[in-house]
Amino acid sequence: MSDGPIPFLQALQTMQRIGAAQRTASVPTPLRQARGGVLLADLFAPMALPSFDNSAMDGFALRGEDLARACVEGLLLAGEVFAGRAAALGLSPGTCLRITTGAALPAGADTVVIKENATLVGDRVRFAPGTAPGSNVRHAGEDVLLGSRVLQAGTTLGSAALGLAAALGLDALPVAKRPSVAVFTSGDELRPAGAPLQRGEIYDSNRVLLQSMLAEEGIDTLAWPPLPDHADRMAAALHDAAQAYDVIVTCGGVSAGEKDLLPGLLMRHGAVHFWKVAMRPGMPVLFGTWGRALLLGLPGNPVSVMATFRRLAVPLLDAMQGRLDRAPPLRARLLAPVRKTHARLEFRRGTLSCSADGVLGVDPHPATGSHQQRSAAESNALFVLHEEGRDFEPGSLVEVEPYGAILRR
Ligand code: AMP
Ligand code: MG
Repeated sequence: MSDGPIPFLQALQTMQRIGAAQRTASVPTPLRQARGGVLLADLFAPMALPSFDNSAMDGFALRGEDLARACVEGLLLAGEVFAGRAAALGLSPGTCLRITTGAALPAGADTVVIKENATLVGDRVRFAPGTAPGSNVRHAGEDVLLGSRVLQAGTTLGSAALGLAAALGLDALPVAKRPSVAVFTSGDELRPAGAPLQRGEIYDSNRVLLQSMLAEEGIDTLAWPPLPDHADRMAAALHDAAQAYDVIVTCGGVSAGEKDLLPGLLMRHGAVHFWKVAMRPGMPVLFGTWGRALLLGLPGNPVSVMATFRRLAVPLLDAMQGRLDRAPPLRARLLAPVRKTHARLEFRRGTLSCSADGVLGVDPHPATGSHQQRSAAESNALFVLHEEGRDFEPGSLVEVEPYGAILRR
């Protein structure tokens, strides 16, 4: 247990491997509740889109071969077809039909002239020249061919994907069940909001932080009472949670202090997959299995919680759901120099912005302490200083992990 930290990449791969081996079930999920979930099977189109030839514009349907005549003598207006009505009318040569956007193209018609290019004179419509035969028609299957694969397993179901599924007439999709997560904070110093603080006590802020970050991943959690710094009581609570939850996320109690009991408990009652990762903040992060649950023990400092949650917990939750399309890392240019004095991966806070010419930049926040929550709230991204680097000049490219309001444009 006194071994040194493992490289960050090794920790990440361990999370992904073990998460993928504990996949959650597939649940038929109504589209309304599927947003942000992971599709668990390729989706093949049960119908074509559009499913019938139809008009792309409001105007007049006619035969392309009548266009020349239509511009000189005009065509007899023989009726109208509106969206939603079956195109009962056929189109006879030398005539046209008024048509609205989305209306099925009447048999015989192959062209629509927009109404702005048409003039009604008595019962005839005269057209301005310039429309090519075949214009303004949406052909059956031009968007989606019957039987084609429209969504891949592993896709995150966003609004556009759900809209497509709905257009195909589906009302539910097979979606990975979100892992159930029990959240525990730990420490005898923690007090709930509203309680008066004795000297040495603090409010349990990480509970809210963790629950909020989990909610951003679509996972609702119940608040468990904080774990006391007491081995037997801690073990009893974790034992209960391990019976009922897929994942237990704790924070605090994983470093080297007298009251950092969690690594020892996990060794005794379960299995440790790793303890300590070469990252800063977040070094003492612990990962293992307790009963049938995976246990991720995040360090106690709030910025450590943010870094380890985003970079290790999220990949674990993704792997358990089979998510394959998490956005690739973003990179931005440093807008000020930063210095690092160690060989670990370092996460700093900063403000990410985009210049007028389209270059992402990140302005480092001067605060670097992992207890400094204000700096985290004032920033909108973590940025990553890679292991080998020491002096990072302005303009250096760094990986950025945006969070908060910048993601809601
Ligand atoms: P620990 O790893 O338990 O020694 O905690 C490291 C630091 O994080 C200490 O200063 C703790 O008081 C603080 N901390 C631990 N848990 C929380 C929490 N739930 N909310 C706010 N701060 C915490
Ligand atoms: Mg503690």
